[in-house]
Amino acid sequence: MKTHYIKSITVEDMSEAEIRLLALAMQWTEHGTLYGYPECCRTAFCGMMLSTPQRQPKPGPWTGSGFIPCPDCRRLIAEIGLEKYVEKFIMPNRKFEKPFPIDAMGAPENYKWPPT
Ligand SMILES: [Zn+2]
Repeated sequence: MKTHYIKSITVEDMSEAEIRLLALAMQWTEHGTLYGYPECCRTAFCGMMLSTPQRQPKPGPWTGSGFIPCPDCRRLIAEIGLEKYVEKFIMPNRKFEKPFPIDAMGAPENYKWPPT
């Protein structure tokens, strides 16, 4: 029988670069949540940015909107169209009234990626 261990880490165990990455991922997740982006897309975006930050997301009708769909949602958008997708899956969960990007929180214009 295999035993799996979950190692808990604290901030003290992390390098400065790892802490910076974690802070950015938390910020992306928080902003994505406030914009109403689905969890699957937030998770995929963070994974992509943390693993291959130089990679440019595939362009689509969403380009420039701030929203980057995950592969499943990309397929769904191709099927039902971006407008319908936004109406059904983003707007009901959106907490910001203003569209992306917003100035009030100083983000995301102030994001520096990759972190220096
Ligand atoms: Zn998605």
